[in-house]
Amino acid sequence: MLPTRIQEWSLSPSVAEENNKRELENVRRMQAQAREAIAVLDRRRLLLDAHIELVTQLTVDPNLAEEDEDDAIIYCITCGHEISTRTCIKHMERCYNKVVYYSTAFKYEMNLP
Ligand SMILES: [Zn+2]
Repeated sequence: MLPTRIQEWSLSPSVAEENNKRELENVRRMQAQAREAIAVLDRRRLLLDAHIELVTQLTVDPNLAEEDEDDAIIYCITCGHEISTRTCIKHMERCYNKVVYYSTAFKYEMNLP
């Protein structure tokens, strides 16, 4: 009776050790899976952030998008020319830059402050 008990007692730590090892492997596998899931979520978040930024940029001027369908004609606030709403932003920007450029050149030529 005693030898079997001793045998059991000497066996049990190794069984426990085996269980611990298995448990540890499980935990490590779960950690790896969790890290992978976090990486996937991080990538998804980056994509979402980029998408959100794109969408906010697209909805900056809702009036322009509406008028764009009719292709209405408006007058440039700088030169007074007729321009379509499709190209007005570009035109006005160019026009404004031209005016700024010429007025700077003019000031420079006339020695104005
Ligand atoms: Zn203009």
